[in-house]
Amino acid sequence: MLVLRLMMNNSQAYTQAATAYVDLAALQFNLAKVRELAPSSQIMAVVKANSYGHGLHAVSKAVSVEADAFGVARIEEALQLRANGIVKPILLLEGFYSAQDLPVITTNRIQTVVHCIEQLEALEQVQLDAPISVWLKVDTGMHRLGIRPEQFLEFVTRLKRCPNVADDLRFISHFACADEPNNDSAPRQLALFKQLTNQEIGECSIAASAGLLALPDSHLDWVRPGIIMYGVSPFADKTAGQMGLKPVMTLTSRLIAIRDVKQGEPIGYGGTWASPCDTKIGIVAIGYGDGYPRTAPNGTPVLVNGRQLPLVGRVCMDMLSVDLGPEAKDCVGDEVILWGASLPVETVAHHIGTSGYELVTKLTSRIAMVY
Ligand SMILES: *Cc1c(COP(=O)(O)O)cnc(C)c1O
Repeated sequence: MLVLRLMMNNSQAYTQAATAYVDLAALQFNLAKVRELAPSSQIMAVVKANSYGHGLHAVSKAVSVEADAFGVARIEEALQLRANGIVKPILLLEGFYSAQDLPVITTNRIQTVVHCIEQLEALEQVQLDAPISVWLKVDTGMHRLGIRPEQFLEFVTRLKRCPNVADDLRFISHFACADEPNNDSAPRQLALFKQLTNQEIGECSIAASAGLLALPDSHLDWVRPGIIMYGVSPFADKTAGQMGLKPVMTLTSRLIAIRDVKQGEPIGYGGTWASPCDTKIGIVAIGYGDGYPRTAPNGTPVLVNGRQLPLVGRVCMDMLSVDLGPEAKDCVGDEVILWGASLPVETVAHHIGTSGYELVTKLTSRIAMVY
C-alpha cells in the first residue's frame, strides 16, 4: 500500500485540488512593460520570498535574459539563484546579517547593501580574497533601514577606503508612500536622495513598483520592480489589469461537494453565516492550510463557472464554502478560481483587508505550482 502510494506520488497519477497556474509569458510581458516605462534604467528583478510565492526557480529563469540583475532579501535566496545557474548580479537588499557570511558572498559574487555601522565595521575588519560590490542604503524617509543623511559622507569615505569594498560603490534608498498619489513624501525623499548623491559617480536606485509607475523622475540608474512583474498592483485603488499589466498567477481549486441547505441553517465553524433562503453551498478544497486567509469575510468573491459568488462561513484549514445559489447547476469536480486573470487578486485582497502582495506570497507548499 505504501509502495503504491509512493508510486502514485511520483507519477502524479491523482488529481491535486489546489493549484496555482503561473503564466510565465505574462511575467515576461510585464517585465517588457517595465522596460518600456523606464527605458533608460537598468532593471533589478526582485525575486525575494520565493518570487512573491510564484516559484524562485521558474521565475528567475523566465526573466534571466531581460532582467539586468536580481534582488533578494536573504543570502539563501541568492545562493539558490546561483545554484540554479543565474549568473547575473544579485543584490542582498537588506545586506548581510552576519560577518560570517562575507566569504560566501565574495565567492558567489553577490552584491550587498550596507545600511548600518555594524555592517560597515564587519567589512572593515574581515579578510577577503576579493572585494564585494556594495550599495550604500540611505534612509531618506522610510525610517526602516539605512544610514541617516548626516552619516552619508562618513560612510562614503570609509567604504571607499575599505579594501574589501569594490570601487563600484552604488547608492540605494526606498520610498515609504509612493503608492499614495496625494502624498508628497516620495518627491521629498527623491529630492533628498538626489541631493545627497549628486557629488558621487556611483549608480543610484530608489524606485520599486509604485515609484516606477507613479514617479518617472525616480527611475534613476536602476529600477527595482517586484509586485508589478507578477501582475499585481502596488496601489490600493487600481488593479494591475487597469494599468496594462497581466496577472501572472491564477489560484484554483475544485468543488468537492455541493450541499442543499435550508433557510437559516448556519454554515461551518462558529455558524458565522446562515442563508436567507434555501440554497446550494459549494465546498471548495482550499483553506488556510494552503495560504488562503482564514480572515476572509463573508462575501469575499470566488469565481465558479464564470460567476462571481460570495464566500460564506469561516475559512477552514482545508476547505471553504461558497453560496452557489438555489438554481446552481455546478457539479462536484468543477474548477473554482480564487484569484487570477478573471478575478483580480487586488479585489480579493480588498475584501480581506490586506494587499495582493500578502495573498500571493503566503501560499503554502501544499499548492501545486503549474507553469
Ligand atoms: C521588496 C523590495 C522591492 C520591490 O518592491 P515592490 O513594491 O514589490 O516592487 C524593491 N526594493 C526593496 C529594497 C525591497 O525590499
